[in-house]
Amino acid sequence: MEIQKSTGIVLSSRSANEADYFCTILTKEFGKRDFVFKGLRKSKKRSLVISEPGTVASFVYYFHEDKKSYIVNEHNIIKHMLNIKDDLKKIYLLYFLVSLVEKTTGYNDCNKSIFELTAAGIDNIPAVKYPEHLSVFFLLHLLRMQGILPDFNRCKICAKENYKGFFIDTNDFQPVCIGCINSIKNKTISFGSSIKNYIIESLKKKYSLIDYSLYSSASVLNLLFSMTLFIEDYYHIKIKPKDLLISELSAKYK
Ligand SMILES: [Zn+2]
Repeated sequence: MEIQKSTGIVLSSRSANEADYFCTILTKEFGKRDFVFKGLRKSKKRSLVISEPGTVASFVYYFHEDKKSYIVNEHNIIKHMLNIKDDLKKIYLLYFLVSLVEKTTGYNDCNKSIFELTAAGIDNIPAVKYPEHLSVFFLLHLLRMQGILPDFNRCKICAKENYKGFFIDTNDFQPVCIGCINSIKNKTISFGSSIKNYIIESLKKKYSLIDYSLYSSASVLNLLFSMTLFIEDYYHIKIKPKDLLISELSAKYK
């Protein structure tokens, strides 16, 4: 047994019994790990903030190679997301982003870029004006870091670069131009060239430098929906907050 120190972002948590909390945390140093916070529910001194998704904390715990979860000895909250607790849209967005990271990363697989993407994604939630754009931006970079991002610069069938309207093949998430549409079986709805530009811009520019008002929220939301279905299918997972987020975001178009 060895004492370790980590900084991490809480991805999910559940109460383990009457007194304890069980949290899945993305650590900066060791990737995703499970931790037990003993007696947290009954403690008057320690707050439950550590069990909230999106909380960033440093903590000291006993590491044991043969164990699947580690008991935390002490923790120190660095940042929390309690300031968004009255805004459903932001809460669903937070749950969506942390769920994406939790479901697509393996245990003990340290990836500094994914840690930084997660931290930056969460940091942008309180002031977010275009939640669907932030979600797609986050997903595109997550796919890139996971090595499964297709090349959106060209149609996957004819390799044409200056295609305008396009569909996405739901099997591999690659773009297919309108001229090639009969070559594929399962496709998303059609997207206009502004969505192609949004994808390319998201991958090239910093989040804060993009003019989101140029890209229609309704189309970006459709893209978000297609991307999430693809990820669920690719990893054989279910991103539970997806339905809540998408129905909350699409409410304004009804
Ligand atoms: Zn084509």
